[in-house]
Amino acid sequence: MIFGVLVFCALAHTELARGIERARRELAGPGHVDLASVWLFAGVLVLPAPLTAALITLVYIHYQLRNPFVAWHRRLFGMGVLILSAQATTSLLSLVGGPGHLFGPTVDAVTVVAIVAGIMVYAVADVALIAGRIALYGTPGVTVRKVFGDVSKHMLEISTLFYGALLAFALSYSPALVVLALPPVLMLHRSVLLKQVEEKASKDAKTGLFNSEGWHTRANRERSRAQRTNEGFGLLMVDLDHFKKVNDTYGHVAGDAVLKAVADAISGEVRDYDSVGRFGGEEFVVLLPGMSEADGVGVAERIRHAVTQLVVEAPVEGRTTIIRNLSASIGVSTFPQAGDDIEPLLLAADAALYQAKNSGRNRVVASTALRKPVLAIAA
Ligand code: GH3
Ligand code: MG
Ligand code: MG
Repeated sequence: MIFGVLVFCALAHTELARGIERARRELAGPGHVDLASVWLFAGVLVLPAPLTAALITLVYIHYQLRNPFVAWHRRLFGMGVLILSAQATTSLLSLVGGPGHLFGPTVDAVTVVAIVAGIMVYAVADVALIAGRIALYGTPGVTVRKVFGDVSKHMLEISTLFYGALLAFALSYSPALVVLALPPVLMLHRSVLLKQVEEKASKDAKTGLFNSEGWHTRANRERSRAQRTNEGFGLLMVDLDHFKKVNDTYGHVAGDAVLKAVADAISGEVRDYDSVGRFGGEEFVVLLPGMSEADGVGVAERIRHAVTQLVVEAPVEGRTTIIRNLSASIGVSTFPQAGDDIEPLLLAADAALYQAKNSGRNRVVASTALRKPVLAIAA
C-alpha cells in the first residue's frame, strides 16, 4: 500500500513539476538537487530494501521515458548509486529496528539520532554520485571542488531528506496522510526555482562572476556594514593589457576563453567572501571587505602575477591554441580614504588604473599614490 502511494506521488510530482524542472535545469549549475528524494527517502525508511530499489527504479524509468535525451548510461549510473546509498542507509537503520519498524506509538531518541545519521549517509552518498559523475563524464568549467563547496545545495538536499523522514513518520500512521505532503513539496520546488532565477540574474553568463547589479548589491551592503563598524574595505579594478590584440589575433571566441580564465584566476586569488564582478568588457572589479590599502595592493599584486602565469587553451578555427604572456593593470582604492560611496571609489580605482596603464602596464597603482603630486602642487 505505502509502496503504491509513494510510486504514485513520485510520478505525480515529476509530472506536475515538469515545467519547473525544465526551467531549473536550464538555470542550474552542477549538482542538481532532485526533490523527488522526498518520496525516495520516505521509502528508504518505511519499505523493505527490495521495494525501495523497485521504487527508485520505477522513478528512473519514468524519468527516462519523459526525458529520453539524457544518455541511458548516465541514468543507470544515477539509479545505481541511489540504490546503493539507500542500501547503506538501510543497513545503518537495521541497528535500531530497520525500515518499517522505526516508528512505533512513540519514537525514542536513539531512533531519531539513527534517522539523522541515515540522512547523512544518504546525502554523502548522493554528493559522491555527483562528484563521480563529474569525474567520469566531466563538464567544462565544473570541478569536484565546486560541487562539494556549494553549501546551499547541501542544505537543500538535507532539508529534502528531513522532509522525507517526516513523511515516512506520517505514512507509518496512515498512507492517507500523504495527501498533506504533495502540495508543500510542489511549493518548495517552486521556491527553489525562484532562488535559482535570482542567482542567475546577479551573474555574468560568460564568466560566472557577478554582473553589475549583483556586484553593486554586495558592494552597497559592504559599504553600509563598513560605515556601521568603522572598518574599511578595498576595491580593485583590473583591466587586461592590449586585450584587443588577443581578439584581433585569435578571434572573439578565444578572447572569451581568456576572459573566463582570467575570471577564474582572480577568483582563485581572493577569499570566498570577496566579490568579483564583470560589468561587460574586459574589466573586472573586486571588493575586499576589511582590507586596507596595503592589503589591497598585496592582493592586486597576486592577481597581476597570476594573470602573467596563465596558459589558456582556446579554440581557434576548430583547433586548440595556447595563449600566454597575458598581463593586466590594476587600480586600487580604499574606503573611506578614496571615497565614502561605491561610485567615487570606482572612479578612484579607475583613475589609478589609468595611471597604471600610462606608466607601462602590467602593474598595480593605488589611488592615494595619485593624490600626492596634487597635494604637492597645492602646497
Ligand atoms: P589596454 O591595455 O589599454 O587596456 O588595451 P586594450 O586593447 O585592452 O584596450 P581596451 O581595454 O580599450 O580594449 C577593450 C577590448 O576588449 C575591445 C573589445 O573588443 C574587447 N572586449 C570587450 N568585451 C569583450 C568580450 O566580452 N569578449 C571579447 N572577446 N572581447 C571583448
Ligand atoms: Mg584593456
Ligand atoms: Mg578596458
